[in-house]
Amino acid sequence: MESWGEAAFRGRQLFKWLWTPGFASLDEVTDLPKTLRARLALEGYVYNLETVSVVASKLDDTCKWAFRLEDGSVIETVLIPGDSHATLCVSSQVGCAMGCRFCKTGSMGFVRNLSPSEIAGQVLSVIEQLGSEQRPRNLVFMGMGEPLANFENVVASIRILSSELGLNYSKRRITVSTSGIAPKIVELGNEIDVGLAISLHATTNSLRDRLMPINRRYPLEVLMDACRRFKLPRRRRITFEYIVLKGLNHSREDANRLARLLDGIPSKINLIPYNYVEGLEFQAPSEREVLDFQKLLIDKGFTAIIRKSRGRDIEAACGQLWSKVIRDEARVKGSTSG
Ligand code: SAH
Ligand code: SF4
Repeated sequence: MESWGEAAFRGRQLFKWLWTPGFASLDEVTDLPKTLRARLALEGYVYNLETVSVVASKLDDTCKWAFRLEDGSVIETVLIPGDSHATLCVSSQVGCAMGCRFCKTGSMGFVRNLSPSEIAGQVLSVIEQLGSEQRPRNLVFMGMGEPLANFENVVASIRILSSELGLNYSKRRITVSTSGIAPKIVELGNEIDVGLAISLHATTNSLRDRLMPINRRYPLEVLMDACRRFKLPRRRRITFEYIVLKGLNHSREDANRLARLLDGIPSKINLIPYNYVEGLEFQAPSEREVLDFQKLLIDKGFTAIIRKSRGRDIEAACGQLWSKVIRDEARVKGSTSG
């Protein structure tokens, strides 16, 4: 607004409108002068994410939205209700370039980064559809994409989401999950006061190299060093996500190594039983195997929680996001081109 020769407070007014659930058109901005509204109508416009589909799981209360962006790309956002509050899992990229071997999003490849408004817009759109009373309490960057590979836009989206003029989320309720881009982890902590989750999944470099190509660039020592340097708000802990892959990473030795890796880091461990992805080489563990591994960790004094698989029937479970719309459209294109 200042670059247009307007007072700065006009910018705050406009920003507030743009992030008000239900806002649809610049005509509604009645507290701005008419001339300014005319210029806005001429030079600006509002794009709301287009909802392609909303599907609810029959197995649990999980709900998945597919949103179409202006360029036709489709992204997915998952709502995970809990007893007292819901968590919304947002996407930060269309696809993902990190290529983790066990992940369906990874197998889709990378298309592009989401803009700050496309990221925060997922939250706004869901709130508009659920009603403000039912807005999700926690936000996690665990949808499609590697958030720290889209660092600036992710940080900007968190500033929008946590702004008092915007959706006013407490940064304590926002968690960024990463496959381990070590330098960006430290940068994130210096930049903004949010929760951090690390997708660890292995306790040796040889296995982690095999599962997650990023480990060849930032091996476990470097990753753990970055976690130690991450500015953690008082009384907070880093979440370590650990997919239990049958026969690969849940032995007694793994528990010992994990304890050594996490030594001195305020942490909690989320065990995720592997969600089977067709065509990939990994197997889901039995419930017993997950419980046994959990016990080994608890006996060492760790907080280790088993993350229930949610929304498996609607492909909304961890690592299952892979826009069906994109798949279908690719199929149509494929078939028309012969
Ligand atoms: N790209 C970020 C966040 C998105 S994925 C990251 O990797 O951290 C959210 C979590 O689901 C990550 O811990 C990821 O490793 C895990 N995940 C991926 N594929 C999975 C699968 N098939 N089964 C279980 N968890 C999976
Ligand atoms: Fe990307 Fe995360 Fe999937 Fe790895 S696990 S491919 S970083 S979305």
